[in-house]
Amino acid sequence: EEGMNAQDLGKLLHREPAEIVKKLFMLGVMTNQNQSLDKDTIELLAAEYGIDAKQKVHEDISDIDKLYDKRMKAAKESNKQVKRPPVVTIMGHVDHGKTTLLDRLRHTHVSAHEAGGITQKIGAYQVRLDDRLITFLDTPGHAAFSNMRARGAEITDIVVLVVAADDGVMPQTIEAIDHAKSANVPIIVAINKMDVPGANPQHVTEQLMKYGLIPEDYGGDTIFVKISAKTGENVDDLLQMILLQADVMELKADPTQMAIGTVVEARLSRGRGPVADLLVQQGTLNVGDPIVVGNTFGRVRTMTNDRGRQVKKATPSMPVEITGLNDVPESADKLVEFEDEKTARSVGEARAQQALQKSRENVQHVTLDNLFDTM
Ligand code: GDP
Ligand code: MG
Repeated sequence: EEGMNAQDLGKLLHREPAEIVKKLFMLGVMTNQNQSLDKDTIELLAAEYGIDAKQKVHEDISDIDKLYDKRMKAAKESNKQVKRPPVVTIMGHVDHGKTTLLDRLRHTHVSAHEAGGITQKIGAYQVRLDDRLITFLDTPGHAAFSNMRARGAEITDIVVLVVAADDGVMPQTIEAIDHAKSANVPIIVAINKMDVPGANPQHVTEQLMKYGLIPEDYGGDTIFVKISAKTGENVDDLLQMILLQADVMELKADPTQMAIGTVVEARLSRGRGPVADLLVQQGTLNVGDPIVVGNTFGRVRTMTNDRGRQVKKATPSMPVEITGLNDVPESADKLVEFEDEKTARSVGEARAQQALQKSRENVQHVTLDNLFDTM
């Protein structure tokens, strides 16, 4: 932007104006803090800070949501896209078998020939079928899904709706349908507990049709699978159908660009400091990459996959547990990779500062409101 000076740029890039002046000097441009700079100089400087010259310099780089959206959009237009595993959330009424299904998948479908076998609890895990992967979010239920959505995180590609064949459609079944529909996420119906004597899948199907879930036999396009999470009956079929649905959706990602992702869970580990379980969505995250995650920042120090094994890189839809952040982020926080650590740090610090400011303002509001209440 013409007319900007070192002071303006310092603000945008979260740097001291003096540093900007110095940097420009190194680039052969003599200026002071107030002198306005031409477009070429600004672009040169932007490039020096790892910002695409085409990216408008006047955009505040601490707005990582914007950066995330931009990269997501760029990925969708990229010709370097490759297939990526679908990300699945299991939903359904309480006691219909969500946890049993997740446990079965975790224990029997992480392919026995992969040494290590059992998955670690890292918020999400991958299941293999015929050399293809499916990522399951490990928190069944609606709260997690709603929380993610409320915070603008859209990581679920497919919802598996578990309905017990001996119980049928219940309030949380309907709630799950509503959630999935409003998120525009396709539903695969898993009629569960087929091993139970009172199982009545026909009745369940008829009930679900009232909510717009019409099986193919009836001219609809919703996939229905009859399973038993307990015995494992047809669970492979369910996985096949998930992959089929994924093919229809043409789920792709560009692993070549700078990484973006979303936090599934995070916590403070006594020995390892802040730990975040996250899903990479676009690009590839490498050990050593400078990142901003929500209002935290750092370099990826270690990366662990769902088998508890250390990995050097994470590709799209791959859940990993990372360490190296300065603080604990929140679930649904966005991850954005940066070119250099200094930028990541200044952006992270600016965001933490902004968040602190906001929380102070909120506290003040509350106190004022309380004051008015008592008057
Ligand atoms: P959630 O509340 O949806 O997570 O349901 P759970 O997975 O905790 O299952 C509730 C109960 O149903 C448990 O006692 C499970 O053992 C049982 N259950 C789950 N799936 C099946 C199934 O396919 N067949 C039978 N017979 N029982 C099941
Ligand atoms: Mg459960």
